Amino acid sequence: MSTILPSIFIGHGNPMNAIQTNQYTEAWKQIGETVARPKAILCISAHWFVAGTGVTISTAPRTIHDFGGFPGELYQVKYPAPGDPDLARRVQKLLQPLPVQLDDSWGLDHGAWSVLRHVYPQADVPVVQLSIDATKPASFHYELGKKLAVLREEGVLIVGSGNLVHNLRTYAWGETAEPYDWAMKFEQEARGMLVSGEVKPLIEYQKMGRDAMLSIPTPEHYLPLLYVAATQQQGEAVTFPVEGIDGGSISMLAVQVGK
Ligand code: ZN
Repeated sequence: MSTILPSIFIGHGNPMNAIQTNQYTEAWKQIGETVARPKAILCISAHWFVAGTGVTISTAPRTIHDFGGFPGELYQVKYPAPGDPDLARRVQKLLQPLPVQLDDSWGLDHGAWSVLRHVYPQADVPVVQLSIDATKPASFHYELGKKLAVLREEGVLIVGSGNLVHNLRTYAWGETAEPYDWAMKFEQEARGMLVSGEVKPLIEYQKMGRDAMLSIPTPEHYLPLLYVAATQQQGEAVTFPVEGIDGGSISMLAVQVGK
């Protein structure tokens, strides 16, 4: 494949998006219809946040229902996309000398499948997940993203799944709510940096002040964005195919690097 695929950070938000049809899920579907069809997907999800870096090696990754207190229907969802052990080994090689575990215990968590079932409803694109090492700083994750960028030239769609702004303490579950000013301000600031390619402050987000701290109270939903931002080539455009702030404090912004 000669095309360079884009890489995309998708704000997954509430797990209920998996079984709903709304402005976000419609936009996810559009992504699947407009982006050149990938050979495989490498997904970096907020919900595989553990000590160490691992990649899923299974040929048939299980659908993990990693949440509690939702309607039964959500627990019935299966996303039977195949795995891709060759891609898992390729990732392991690209990240050398970092030890990357070939993992057969994880599968696809809801960060991956709640979105992918809208993007590729046929579940016919193989998916490999990469864990986020919870013990490492943001700069480490950005550097891993840079090493993985070459996969875009190999037919692999790199998908980060998290949320740029993710504060559950202030989130209005199941209700419409006006976005908090700090959420809007941080999102706006981050967008500007992504467009201009000035990502250093995004890597050092802990120095960005109150708006960033309220938007990123814990790092796991934010870090997948750094993997995607790191794949940007010189002069490449960044666009936002999905926009919106849900429940006041979850940014549903999608960030696409390249076309
Ligand atoms: Zn989540």
